Amino acid sequence: MGLMTTRLQEAADGLAALAPGRVLTDDAALAAYSHDEAEWAPFVPPLAVVLARSTEEVAAVVRWAAERGVRVVPRGAGTGLSGGANSIQNSIVVSLELMQQVFEVNVDERYARTQPGVINNALRDHVAAFGLWYPPDPASSAISTIGGNAATNAGGICCVKYGVTRDYVLGMTVVLASGEIVSLGRATAKGVTGYDLTGLLVGSEGTLGIITEVTVKLLPLAGRDERAVIGYFPSLEAAGVAVAAISRAGIVPAALELIDQACLRAVDDWQQLGLPGNVDTLLLAKIDERGAAGDELADRVAAIFETAGGTDVERATDPEEISRLFLARRLAYPALERLGPVLTEDICVPRSAVPEMLHRIQQTAALQNVTIANIAHAGDGNLHPLIIAPVGDEAAKARAKVAFDRIVEDCLALGGTVTGEHGVGLLKLDGARRELGGAVIRMHRSIKDALDPQGTLNPGKAF
Ligand SMILES: Cc1cc2nc3c(=O)[nH]c(=O)nc-3n(C[C@H](O)[C@H](O)[C@H](O)COP(=O)(O)OP(=O)(O)OC[C@H]3O[C@@H](n4cnc5c(N)ncnc54)[C@H](O)[C@@H]3O)c2cc1C
Repeated sequence: MGLMTTRLQEAADGLAALAPGRVLTDDAALAAYSHDEAEWAPFVPPLAVVLARSTEEVAAVVRWAAERGVRVVPRGAGTGLSGGANSIQNSIVVSLELMQQVFEVNVDERYARTQPGVINNALRDHVAAFGLWYPPDPASSAISTIGGNAATNAGGICCVKYGVTRDYVLGMTVVLASGEIVSLGRATAKGVTGYDLTGLLVGSEGTLGIITEVTVKLLPLAGRDERAVIGYFPSLEAAGVAVAAISRAGIVPAALELIDQACLRAVDDWQQLGLPGNVDTLLLAKIDERGAAGDELADRVAAIFETAGGTDVERATDPEEISRLFLARRLAYPALERLGPVLTEDICVPRSAVPEMLHRIQQTAALQNVTIANIAHAGDGNLHPLIIAPVGDEAAKARAKVAFDRIVEDCLALGGTVTGEHGVGLLKLDGARRELGGAVIRMHRSIKDALDPQGTLNPGKAF
């Protein structure tokens, strides 16, 4: 038997005793679990995949791996866009996808305690039945897990007003690299005991611990009155000017999303939603203040759209019409993926720099002769230029990579950050190192060494 086959067999036998019937070692499963949605990031098939069911089981598997020098890659739904869940040399993947129980919804204290494999939308639906709302809504809310959202500090569409995942995670149960189980954080409205280790774990991309339970803060569901303002712009820059002006005016919309023509076309060709095909750029704002105050804000947003060159500025108050428009935004990424491998950018620039950054992105597309489509959580300055290379065109792929690096450079030059919400994973390692610099990288290294001295948990990711 070859060395590799022996290791595979050892892993299968050892792990099967810890998670009976839930250890996958067939080629198809190893391939399916070897990477997330970041097609361009490297990966190596894992030795095995464990579909964990409980905190204790995760702890036993981590201990097993640590004792053998095997690395552990935690995984939620694998919808990540930076290669964070990609398996690496000599690793096993621990999937949390079967841990789908919501343990508790506390209406009086407004929190929920849940397992990590619960899908974001499922948690939102679950708590809605109690009159409560979990705001963070990544565009992947129908497919990504709460554990993955916490591990990446996911943002989303309403985050411009309501904040990102970190603003809602109160506490968690975590399996450390030693296999020890710890409980972090609190379930109270306030609390400052000790270092904010919950905050540290949020966005740690599986490198410091495996989150096996999360307590999230909830808001009351009622009390918002949604209306959308839609504007059609003659160019990306014009839409960018409107975004900067809304911020300067002190208006905080509940969403401010940008979708360009390439994305609108791709979505409509796929789903026939009746979207306009001849529009250069669409801005979609949501205002959710109640009554006259909300109407007045919507008027101000519409006026800003028009001043920036927006035409046919429309309102929508019908909830179905609003969800159809936002569905187009949610479908933009999968629609583009149908056209070829997509290299997804995730930069975040100051809102005042959005027009300039959008201009530079177009320059880069022209210079590198690549197709770049754009969607953005524009109200946060969080832009997703999507670089598309035709299948099998290696030269275009190489140019796409150059464009990717150029966009990162421009973003840093404009005072931005290399990842607004997807995480560093593997795709943004160079950019993160440049942004953070030597001393801060050493702080990261010290924290990693203190919590995971053997480098068991997702080594080589995040910084
Ligand atoms: C169509 C589409 C739209 C998207 N829109 C958004 C968006 O609007 N905003 C946004 O922020 N992201 C977005 N994403 C990216 C992705 O959905 C998020 O990063 C999401 O939080 C990942 O969740 P997941 O369950 O798929 O995690 P995975 O992809 O499985 O893992 C992500 C990272 O978290 C780690 N991890 C996962 N679970 C755990 C755990 N329990 N404990 C410790 N570490 C863990 C993994 O090791 C990896 O590093 C989008 C992706 C797609 C495909």
